[in-house]
Amino acid sequence: MSQNHSERSHAKLSASGSSRWLACPGSVALESEYPDVTTSFAEEGTAAHELSELILQHKLGDLTKRQFSGRLKKHKAGEYYSQEMYDHCDNYTDLVIERVNEAKAKTQDAQVLLEQRLDFSQWVPDGFGTGDVLVIADGVIEVIDLKYGKGVPISAENNSQMRLYGLGAYNEYDMLYDIETVRMTIIQPRLDSVSTEEISADELLKWAGDVVKPTAEDAAQGSDVFEAGEHCRFCKARAECRVRAEANLELARHEFKEPALLSPEEVADILAKAAELKSWVDDVESHALDQAHNYGVTYPGWKVVEGRSNRIYSDKDVVADLLILEGYSEEEIHKPAELKGITDMQKVLGKKQFDSILKDHIIKPPGKPKLAPESDKRPALSSAASAAEDFKDGE
Ligand code: SF4
Repeated sequence: MSQNHSERSHAKLSASGSSRWLACPGSVALESEYPDVTTSFAEEGTAAHELSELILQHKLGDLTKRQFSGRLKKHKAGEYYSQEMYDHCDNYTDLVIERVNEAKAKTQDAQVLLEQRLDFSQWVPDGFGTGDVLVIADGVIEVIDLKYGKGVPISAENNSQMRLYGLGAYNEYDMLYDIETVRMTIIQPRLDSVSTEEISADELLKWAGDVVKPTAEDAAQGSDVFEAGEHCRFCKARAECRVRAEANLELARHEFKEPALLSPEEVADILAKAAELKSWVDDVESHALDQAHNYGVTYPGWKVVEGRSNRIYSDKDVVADLLILEGYSEEEIHKPAELKGITDMQKVLGKKQFDSILKDHIIKPPGKPKLAPESDKRPALSSAASAAEDFKDGE
């Protein structure tokens, strides 16, 4: 059954929240006390999914050129449409078509399905999701998921959301196609990132039975098992959760030893805890401000005050007219025209035109030095001190 994007609803134990509820089953009951919020990023993502579906239908030959152009017009009138979005969706659909062609090269009977409801309620109470694209060929079912965000590349390896989609796809089509292998692919066109995990249907079913089913049942029944970790960042209870607060306060406790100054090892230990602590403090702060300002909640010892603001013109046109009347020239009162920034320019030109016209005129200056954990993929910069040593060596 094909799904309407705007009607995609969220199950209590959603696939997208599965990394959280698999680690912290108690979060499901706690989250149910908070309302659903839609962000403009989510709306932009929905617009990109709808546009991609249209482009795919055209590329797969399900729509005539005329039908495609007519429907595209409606998308162009949408709030989030831009040439840049079209180009990203076009690139994404090219990658999907590559997968489809690979499947068709194996067997002409390859099946391609768009926007399929994937039911995994056999393992997760009321569990379902939507597969953007399914490609079925030769005992292999592939679920392709478009992620339109431009945050960080997301790996499909051990990704519980994708595995649940894979389970739903297997569940739906095994009877018809005798599925042996499940492939799960995440495509992030704005980050040029494609990631795939391929596992046997047996292995996926074992994970579903051993890990997912018992945890999901416990979570659905109001589990009292809470576990704080990175997954807390996506939990609706993140600002008020006691377990997260206790875990962070525990993180902040540092056993100070003599001498009075911290050793490099102790500073390293604090740095390792800093990101999680910062994110927790930010969450608590913005929650308290929202509650105090919008709902009148009072926090002992705290009040809401007006922040700093800068002076602005009440009406720029009136100000300009007034100054010209007073004898000031256009050059004196207006800033010179300025070239748009790279992101805005790419929105106007679209990625393809931007790359073809401006590719040789874009430079990337070196970034400012930044501390990162050893596991970070970027190579370490040599410090100013070691650079000075190197220089000495070369003398
Ligand atoms: S904030 Fe973290 S520990 Fe608390 S309920 Fe949410 S996921 Fe669990």
